[in-house]
Amino acid sequence: MTALDQKLHDIYDEVLHRNPGETEFHQAVYEVLSSLKPVVAKHPHYVDAAVIHRMCEPERQIIFRVPWLDDAGTVQINRGFRVEFNSALGPYKGGLRFHPSVYLGIVKFLGFEQIFKNSLTGLPIGGGKGGSDFDPKGRSANEIMRFCQSFMTELYRHIGEYTDVPAGDIGVGGREIGFLFGQYKRITNRYESGVLTGKGLTWGGSQVRTEATGYGAVFFVDEILKTSGDAFDGKRVVVSGSGNVAIYAIEKIHQLGGVVVACSDSSGYVVDDKGIDLELLKEVKEDRRERLQAYIDGRGGAADFVPGRLTWDVPCDIAVPSATQNELNGEDAARLIKNGAKIVAEGANMPCTPEAVKLFTEAGVKFAPGKAANAGGVATSALEMQQNASRDSWTFGYTEQRLAAIMHGIHQRCLDTADEYGAPGNYMVGANITGFIQVADAMLAQGLI
Ligand code: NDP
Repeated sequence: MTALDQKLHDIYDEVLHRNPGETEFHQAVYEVLSSLKPVVAKHPHYVDAAVIHRMCEPERQIIFRVPWLDDAGTVQINRGFRVEFNSALGPYKGGLRFHPSVYLGIVKFLGFEQIFKNSLTGLPIGGGKGGSDFDPKGRSANEIMRFCQSFMTELYRHIGEYTDVPAGDIGVGGREIGFLFGQYKRITNRYESGVLTGKGLTWGGSQVRTEATGYGAVFFVDEILKTSGDAFDGKRVVVSGSGNVAIYAIEKIHQLGGVVVACSDSSGYVVDDKGIDLELLKEVKEDRRERLQAYIDGRGGAADFVPGRLTWDVPCDIAVPSATQNELNGEDAARLIKNGAKIVAEGANMPCTPEAVKLFTEAGVKFAPGKAANAGGVATSALEMQQNASRDSWTFGYTEQRLAAIMHGIHQRCLDTADEYGAPGNYMVGANITGFIQVADAMLAQGLI
């Protein structure tokens, strides 16, 4: 608590009091508040006008029942969530997560992060997030469809291209967005392309959206490397996860000359010293939807599988945690530092614990927080919305250039702001303050909202 001054501390205490048990949300709020001390010192009106207080309270929180029939004909009940956190800059925007660990505290942490991330992109999008405690693992495609249809049968009344625009996240990819969009269209009788992003390319989706989060994180690391005249060439990289973000981070790192030697899923990790075979990984995870261990069978003994652990044991120059929150703790951070890691960029949302971030900062490891490093996904979602609004579709090359330019801009704004507020080179401080000020000023301009 010592990092917060008294006024910020009071706000944090109130957040704890109003949101009991929501530990991930507390963590996300604390992380932002701990960067705001110099802002409050310079601009006390943000506290006086209770802007920070208001920002910590979602504009709207929706919780609903999702009943559906499994293949055996048994009724299943899940809980659905949508937290519409802040619409000062634009319609609520943020993904849907389907994972058994989802509860209100997870959705609120993700929604809160999303406010600042979306602001950092410089595009007109507010912050929101949603999901369900539904576990897609082991479910048939028909069960997934029935679940998505039931989920949308409630969610449709809360969303819209000018209101709230969901997308994917853990457990929600192109297939699920398709099922959700189809049900929205049936209920509303509107072909409202801009209501969801991550759509298929032939029905309103954008080139590069699938790749955007992973590619964007790698563009961000490339910007960090450039600040010291360095490049990806020959760098040894470790990624965690083997889902959407991880796969496309690996793809871009390989294109830029780096070598990714490890990735994971929730059952363990693969080490492949010659570099992950991306085609094989895509076949196992995207086409066959199998566990990561199946990768080993396809590699004829060239790779190893380590069960029950994440990739942080593997020596590397750069680490890109891309699985889930709090997957990299203090011990992992100490091991990465000892093994020579120089850059850690969060492909996932809040994958590093506060202790890990502290250790990285103290050791001079360049640390890129998720709200900056993984903002390429939502930025490209906003580009998808632009294309939908203008009934247009852009080429892969043009869209990728836009993504690279956005990541360059975010990187620069983080550095400039960190300089301005006395924390040169600190991407966390730069990201939190830049994201905060833009939203705070919009809220002040819009009256008591
Ligand atoms: P996916 O569902 O495609 O992949 C998630 C990966 O992480 C899987 O390999 C999964 O393994 C692993 N994983 C999930 N939970 C755990 C866990 N508790 N322990 C260990 N491994 C786990 O999700 P995404 O790639 O889309 O998302 C990954 C992260 O990136 C999340 O934090 C998400 O919020 C963030 N993000 C995603 C964006 C996007 O555009 N998709 C945008 C910005 C951020 P398994 O399959 O075994 O569960």
